[in-house]
Amino acid sequence: MKVLKFGGSSLADGARIRDVADVVTQAPGADRDAVVLSAMKGVTDMLISAAQAAEQGNDAFKQVLETIRGKHFDAVRFLFAPANQAAALTPLALMCNELEEILHGVELIRECSPRTLDLVMSFGERLSCQLFTSYMNERGKDATLVDAREIVVTNDRFGSAAVDFQKSYSRIEARLGTIKGMAVIPGFIGATEKGVTTTIGRNGSDYTASIIGAGASAELIEIWTDVDGVLSADPRIVPDAFVIPHLSYEEAMELSYFGAKVIHPYSMVPAVEKDIPLLIKNSLNPSAPGTLISAGRKGAGRAVTGIASIPGISLVNIEGGGMMGIPGFAARIFSVLAREGVNIIMISQASSEHTICLVFRTPEGERALAALNHELTMELETRRIERFDLMRDLLVVSVIGENMAGTPGIAGRLFSSLGQAGVNILVIAQGSSERNISFVIEEKDHVLALRTLHAALVSPHARAGAGSGA
Ligand code: ADP
Ligand code: ASP
Ligand code: MG
Repeated sequence: MKVLKFGGSSLADGARIRDVADVVTQAPGADRDAVVLSAMKGVTDMLISAAQAAEQGNDAFKQVLETIRGKHFDAVRFLFAPANQAAALTPLALMCNELEEILHGVELIRECSPRTLDLVMSFGERLSCQLFTSYMNERGKDATLVDAREIVVTNDRFGSAAVDFQKSYSRIEARLGTIKGMAVIPGFIGATEKGVTTTIGRNGSDYTASIIGAGASAELIEIWTDVDGVLSADPRIVPDAFVIPHLSYEEAMELSYFGAKVIHPYSMVPAVEKDIPLLIKNSLNPSAPGTLISAGRKGAGRAVTGIASIPGISLVNIEGGGMMGIPGFAARIFSVLAREGVNIIMISQASSEHTICLVFRTPEGERALAALNHELTMELETRRIERFDLMRDLLVVSVIGENMAGTPGIAGRLFSSLGQAGVNILVIAQGSSERNISFVIEEKDHVLALRTLHAALVSPHARAGAGSGA
């Protein structure tokens, strides 16, 4: 069997949902497949804004709820024969009423905890899956809605809950084993062992698909989205970006970790573990071959496979003679940041031990700055380290390729092309795998840097010496 996942971009309205149903029913052996769905396009953002409005006592949340209700009801009116619309609308209306009561509760107590926000967000995927299951039945297909909260077991880190793979796999196998037709499963959501609703991180439905695939021992996990596959760069920034036919798991992980939003980076983890290939496909153009992500791509293709970037970055540069030769200084920094739950994207330390540079997403950078100032008060007061601040409005760019290892001259070409374009580089890091060179630049140089690098290193016209075409 296969798992087919459709993101919000494939579920914008009734017409797009009909296209998704066409893809699902035309797949060979579709009757045994599992379908994982995101919320309809934009709905998760709307749910968050409704919760925030309710928390502030602003009854604008009622209008947002009305928009969400209307979006689903319009899709029912488009998809179902008039005689069957009432039956399809009823479960959706009940869910919207329940959501309204929860938001009313938030408004009354003026508080929306991360736990409550997860419950509110869960309605997006639950509504889209309820709608889609009814629609498949309307089309005469045997489809069963499976509540992800019964099969995806997580801890209680609300907003980005960690999945317990072993417990989830055995529940997935047992539950899907009882279903004869197609299973329809909400992405993005799970529950603790006590049954409290959680979410596994924004954009997490790809990850759900991979967890379901691993638990059900699927032969393939298909991620259907609104572009022809994983492209060599973000197509909104680099118009010349092209589809990469084949990626290794590691390349896909690095590209997505460093900003290629088309697939969630965690999606590769269960797939690698069970050696299940992932295929990225376009629901607007199903005949395009897509991108295959699987093991063992070494040996083929050009040196640089793709470029990705993360905007909204900040960095802290800690400098001072007081760090030199003191064992455990770096460990102290990392443990205080770990205690704060701050995620460090990149680290660079000069071999003189005179500076440590830490790179964060800006909201985490603000927390890191406060925590580091507190931790290092004594060193700052005695001037063993210098005062530091957060540099904001930066961008991490990452150049990725399985075949970069052992291809000399890539770093030279990379930095000289940026130098010629006048792009200033603030920090550089290269992993020892040599699969990735990452660096930080100012956000204002985003478009210029990506287009320059794409032309110099990735495009089919890039200078020879970087291997044959992909
Ligand atoms: P979905 O709703 O299907 O999960 P997303 O919006 O999460 O879709 O991801 C698809 C989008 O990712 C594309 O529309 C594209 O704009 C963006 N994107 C960014 N980088 C890349 C890339 N390297 N390759 C393909 N798409 C990318
Ligand atoms: N609906 C969720 C989000 O918008 C999960 C997903 O789309 O993958 O983040
Ligand atoms: Mg997505």
